[in-house]
Amino acid sequence: MASVEEKTIFEKIISREIPADIVFENDVAVIIRDINPQAPVHALIIPKRRIDRIEAAQDGDAELLGKLLIMARDFAKSHNLTGFRLVVNNGRQAGETVPHLHIHLLSGRPMAWPPG
Ligand code: 5GP
Repeated sequence: MASVEEKTIFEKIISREIPADIVFENDVAVIIRDINPQAPVHALIIPKRRIDRIEAAQDGDAELLGKLLIMARDFAKSHNLTGFRLVVNNGRQAGETVPHLHIHLLSGRPMAWPPG
């Protein structure tokens, strides 16, 4: 895992140091298209203030975390998505590769359960 001092790829996207397909932005977060989409629609909802992962979240982050879910709701609604899945990978074993909390929003194909 990157140290906290090291900028994550998402911090560099947020600061426009590296390009990304940013589909929405507000004062709290950005929504970008995933560079390696796992479904016809694969967006990432990324808070501007970095929290490494959900296990590092503080009680005081509750409002921010709630806002990320509301952004997911609004993205789904504005893209007319009826079925979609939200995923948060916490830790390497769960598939986390970027140590900057983000919500995956996947849609546009049938989703299997349980997930792999
Ligand atoms: P994680 O594996 O941490 O849950 O999710 C990280 C996601 O970020 C992956 O789905 C990966 O494809 C995506 N990703 C990694 N680097 C970039 C990038 O430079 N640009 C974009 N748009 N997505 C990225």
